[in-house]
Order: sequence, then C-alpha cells, then structure tokens
Amino acid sequence: MSRWRDAVGAIRGPLEFARRGPEVAERVHDLAGTLRSALARAAELWVPPEVSKRLREASARLESGASAEALDEIAKSLASVLAPTFPERWLAQPVSRVPGVGPKTAQALARKEIATVEDLLFFLPRAYEDRREIVPIEKLEVGRSAAFSGTVTRSGVVPLRNGRRFFQAIVSDGTGAVQLKWFRGIQTFQDRLAPGARVLVAGDVRRYRFAKELHHPDVEILAAETEPGELPRIVPSYSAVEGLPPRTLRRLVESAVRSAGDLVDGWLPEATVAELALAEIGSALREVHLPSVGLDPARLRDRSTPYHLRLVAEELYLLQLGLEQRRRELHRRVTDPLVLSNDAEARARAALPFALTGDQQRAWAEIRADLARRSPMNRLLVGDVGTGKTVLAVLAAAAAHASGRTSALLAPTEILAEQHFETLHRLALPLGMRAALLTGGTPPRERAELARWLERGEVQIVVGTHALFSESVDLPRLGLVVIDEQHRFGVAQRRALARKGENPHLLAMSATPIPRSLALTVFGDLDHSVLRERPPGRGPVETRVVPPTAGRAVMSQVTETLRRGEQIFVVYPLVEESEKADLKDATRGFERLRKALPGVSAALVHGRIERGERARAMADFAAGRVRVLVATTVIEVGVDVPNATLLIVQHAERFGLAQLHQLRGRVGRGGRPGHALLIADPITPESVERLAILERSDSGFEIAEAELRIRGAGEWLGTRQAGHLPELRLADLVRHGEYLSAARVAAADLLARDPNLEKSPGLRAAIARRWGARLDLVTH
Ligand code: ADP
Ligand code: MG
Repeated sequence: MSRWRDAVGAIRGPLEFARRGPEVAERVHDLAGTLRSALARAAELWVPPEVSKRLREASARLESGASAEALDEIAKSLASVLAPTFPERWLAQPVSRVPGVGPKTAQALARKEIATVEDLLFFLPRAYEDRREIVPIEKLEVGRSAAFSGTVTRSGVVPLRNGRRFFQAIVSDGTGAVQLKWFRGIQTFQDRLAPGARVLVAGDVRRYRFAKELHHPDVEILAAETEPGELPRIVPSYSAVEGLPPRTLRRLVESAVRSAGDLVDGWLPEATVAELALAEIGSALREVHLPSVGLDPARLRDRSTPYHLRLVAEELYLLQLGLEQRRRELHRRVTDPLVLSNDAEARARAALPFALTGDQQRAWAEIRADLARRSPMNRLLVGDVGTGKTVLAVLAAAAAHASGRTSALLAPTEILAEQHFETLHRLALPLGMRAALLTGGTPPRERAELARWLERGEVQIVVGTHALFSESVDLPRLGLVVIDEQHRFGVAQRRALARKGENPHLLAMSATPIPRSLALTVFGDLDHSVLRERPPGRGPVETRVVPPTAGRAVMSQVTETLRRGEQIFVVYPLVEESEKADLKDATRGFERLRKALPGVSAALVHGRIERGERARAMADFAAGRVRVLVATTVIEVGVDVPNATLLIVQHAERFGLAQLHQLRGRVGRGGRPGHALLIADPITPESVERLAILERSDSGFEIAEAELRIRGAGEWLGTRQAGHLPELRLADLVRHGEYLSAARVAAADLLARDPNLEKSPGLRAAIARRWGARLDLVTH
C-alpha cells in the first residue's frame, strides 16, 4: 500500500459512481465536490509533476459541474495514471526521468548501479550531518566538522607553481574570516561564489599555516531574505558518486523523493507494521532522506528511527520472500536421484582408511538423503579447515557412480586442485573409482580424452580449476558438482558449471563458518550441514598474541622450528588502499629475515610477483626446498604442507579473526603440533583483547560469532564471507534480528496462502526488481 494508492482509491470510487449516469450521481450529496477534492489531494502528493498537473487540471474541469462529458474526459485522461500498475511502471523507468537528472548525471549514477527512479529513491544516506548549530567563524575548531554562515569577501582562481590552479573564496561573518578552497570543479564555484554572496558552509575545518581553511566544503547560497536557520538542518550524506558533488547528489535524491516518494509501495502486512510500530512507507522515505527538524540526530545516525526501521523491515520482508521463492523453485527442479544402496554404502565406508566422526556421519546422512531426491541437492557443507570435508565429497561421488553418473570437483587454485586430486584418488580407488585432474594447462587433446574416459566409465571424478567451466570441456553424464571454497568463485562461474549437466546435484564446501543467525536466514535449516568436530589426532594450534617488541622470542622460536627440520609461514597483511606500503613492508621483512637467517632458503610471494614464479615458490615450499615462506594473504586458503608447524602473522590486528583462524589451519597438519604467533603491531588493549579470542578458542564458529558481536554484521559481510549472503541496503541481519524474524513469519504466512504470489503481482515484481538474479549468489 501507499499514499498514492489510497488517493487513487478516493478518486476511483466517486469517479466510477458518477459515470454510471446522472440519476445515480444525483443520489449522492455533492459527488462532484468529493471527486474534486480527492483529485486535488492526490495532486499534493509526492508524485511526478506531470501527474500532479493532470490531477489539478481534472479537478479544475469539475468546477463547472460534473457533466457526463467532463467525467468521460477525466476518466480518459487519467486512465493510465490511475491504473494499478502505474507506480511500478514509473519507478522502473530510467533514472533520467527524475527532474534534474540529465544524461551525464545518469551516467555517473549508473556507475553506482543506480539505473532506475526506484534505485535513486533507495540510495539511502550513509550518515547525517547535524547543522542545527551555526558556529561563529572565530570559534571554528581545526579537525572538526562544523557549519557556519557568512559573506564572500573575496574570491578568485589562484595559480600554483606546478601549472595547476585552485579556486579560493574568503568568507567572513564579522567574528572572523576563513578560506574555502576547491581544487576541482573550479568553473562552477567561480560563477556562484562572487564577492557579496551570502553562504551557508559546512565541512571539515583544517589548518593551513596560521589560518583555518576548508577544502571542497558544502556550500548553500542563501537568497537575500533567507536566514541560515531556515535551511534543512540535519542533512543526509550519501556515499560518494564519482563525478557528482555531494550537494548535487543530495539535490537529486531529494528531487526523486519529491517526484515519486509517495508512489512507493509498502508490502509488509498492516498487522506487522502495527505490531512493530513502524512508520508509513511514504513518510519513511521522506524522513530518511529529508529528516524533519525534530528528529533526534543520534537515532538518525543509528538508523533506529521508526522511518528507518520501516525500510529495514521492508527490506527483510522482500529478502525472506525472495529466498523462500528461490528455495521452492530449486526444489521444484527435477533431476535423477543418486542412490547408494545400504550394502554399497557399508562397503564404501568400510573401504575408507578411517571411521567417520559423529559430525561427518550426520552430514553424510543429510547429503545422502538429498541425493536420493528427485530435485537437485543444493547444500552448503561448512567445517573448519581439517574437519574432514573431502571424504564426504568422495562418498557423494560414490553415490553418483552407483547411479551411473560422474562427478566434478572444483577448487579455486591449481595447487588446491592438485592436492584434492591426490587425496581424492587415494580415497576413491578403494571405492572402485578413479579421479582425473584438469587444469588450465591441460592440452586440448587430453581434455578430449578425458571426456572419452568419463563416457566409457574409466574415470568417475574430475578434479579441476575454473578450466572446468570452459566450453571446450565436455563432462558427460555429470550428476554431481562439488565446489570447494565456494565463496571464492563468482556467481557466473558457479552457474556455468552447474549448467554443464542436467541439473546436477550441488555440494558447496566452505571453511568459513557462518554464524547460525545468518545461516538460518539464508539457507533455512534444511540445506546447511556443519562439521565442528575434528578427526582424532589433530591438536589445536597453540596460539599466542605477542607485542612487536618480542622480536627475540619470536626469532628463537623460528630457529627452534628450523632446527627440528620444520617449516615456517610468515604472513603480512595486504589491502588495496595501502597496497604499496604493505608490499614494501613485506619485502623489507623478507630482507631482514634473510639477513638474520643466512643459509636458510626463504621465498617471498605476493600478488605482484608473476604467476609462474609464485607457483614455483609455493611448489618449492610444498616440497621442502624452501623452508620459510614469506607471503601476503595469498596463501590463506592454500597449500597443504604437513611439515609446516609455525605461523607468524605480522600486523595481526589488521586481519579478521575468521581469517586468522583459517590461516593458522595451515600449520600443524602433519601430526606434529602447530604454533601461531600473532604479532599485534601497534599493540593496543582492544587489539589484544580481540586477538586473545584466538588464544582461547579453537572453534571457527565461536570465533565467527565473536567477530560478529565485536564488529557487527556490516563488517562481517564486508569480508570474504560476503559470497554467502545477499547485500542489504539498510538492514543488519544481526542487529535487526527482531525484524528479521517478524519478516520471516510474515513471509511464510503469505506464501502459505499464495505460494506463487499470484494474488500479489506487484509484490512479485518488487521482489524481482529488488533481488533479480542477486539471490543466485546465495546458493548456486
Ligand atoms: P578439510 O577439507 O575439511 O579441511 P580434509 O578433508 O582435507 O579437511 O581432511 C583433513 C585430514 O583429516 C585429511 O588428512 C583426512 O584424511 C583426515 N580425516 C578426515 N576424516 C577423518 C576421520 N574421520 N578420521 C581420521 N582422519 C580423518
Ligand atoms: Mg579442504
């Protein structure tokens, strides 16, 4: 529902009634008047200007009475606008329909994936600036953001020695003067900020020599008669769009809200809206984008106003509906079941070199049951590094084999593919299956041969990298696809592989635990198996957080480890924003280490090192020819080197806990205990406290939950786990748990009554617009 739909209802009733004929119309008191005011009220809503205009014209047409002719004309001129599908058609139009958005602006917006009117309406503020307090210029504080008003006393372009120029304006308010500088967009400011202009300025105050100045501040030109206090005083701020100054962006969003805000439908059932005390949808959009003066800035920033919460709840409702629909759709697909008889299963398990752990048995029972269905399995198997996921892939492949089908296992890197190939081969042979390896380097002739082997049943399992997706690879009789480290693959890639067979069963494996609250949202209870328990024989990695001053102690542990003939990983952080400095840091660390350990073979790998060389270094490390591997996080989900027992992480505070947990899974895999030294540099009480969780806990799940508590879902989603979960605009799956469960209940309730949303075509379209193929990311 929306204000617009209410208004349309108020017009339609009397309009249709009146058109039944004068006798009918006369029976109702002042039908023309009722209709006229309904039209006028609708014209006041935040709808497109041309719509308002037509409504006002219609209203005016009735002033001289409601003749049959006038009514016909009105009905005709408003037919398209009053149609139930008008709002969604309007909102789906290109963003250039928003007044003020020209072709160039539309292009800039497109880079942020803002393509339609609706996209711009739902481009929500990331923060709010409180400009209720206008500060005297003499009181401006360096290092803080502030708002002030004044008059431009001088302005002009200033050339720099290097040939560049900037625009400068000096603003004074009687208490003092301050400089404003622009290094880009000089032209626009030159025209607007002539001496004498009255302005309201907001931005960060900085120091330049002895003066204060602001760079690229936000400036409103005040008309002669406005007081600064009359301008909107809590101002939304949006994430930057390249090529659009913040003020312009704000103006465009405002234009979108004013020209279409009341067309947006709220889909949550009224009962839920009432129960959660949420705001009406139209006012939610208005207040989130253009907050009223009375709203509490703290709650705005916190996104906890009833307006924000309405949008949160709407978003979660569409998410739940979208996911549930997708789940149902997957379950409706048909494929051949892969069945392992009880006898065959017992034989297969007896042929394994070990007995399954309790968790493995449970997960296997779930997988086996899925495979036996006529709809393709779509299961995520999550378990820490070393919990034994691979053997479950082998058993699933055995089920495929028993049903005359082949299996493909996909790994993110060549090294991992090779390791999987060896493991699978060892496990599969006693079960009567053979595995083959296919990577980017496999020549076409061998690829063709592989297809023949699969066809003839000489090979049952293909292990490979993304080369498996390639058109030139033929995978006959494919019944099962296993994806290791599934979040490392793009959606398109995963889908391409799934398309190779006829709806193959899919098992995605991941070492990155998803906290239960999030997993439930996305997978429901059904399609998610978990391994917590480790197979016997592997102790936890003994982990210590140490200060950067502990260099001697670290070195002595290094020499100890080397003396025992074991190997060492040294990991440096690498993030895009500080890539140069990070690489320098790693390179310097590597050189220092080489000096400190003469005669010990060490290698450095990072993303800037050429692929072949990198692979060689990794292979040398795996073979023991290189004893110390210094790396940025590229080894993270990487090589299995049983002889590596010590992991040193530099700047550990810059890593996520889950990431560190995965990293330490690299050591102590060969029966000897593993050690991890996390160097917190700089060391702060917070970083130590956070990292100490790793000293205490060896459970990836516990660690993920802790990380989630500390950093919030936003952060958590921003990390590499993101592949599991859809991107939300406003809602936070953890913080908004209450709204999430309300949305889940409401969604289930609706789908129970209307499974295919046939009775709510508008809602169905809204889900498609909001999520489209984006939910595919979550599963396939
Ligand atoms: P993951 O892929 O989950 O990190 P793997 O499948 O590589 O773990 O298994 C780790 C190691 O544990 C392998 O050497 C594997 O043979 C062994 N393993 C797996 N399951 C068991 C078990 N039930 N008992 C003993 N060893 C096991
Ligand atoms: Mg594995």
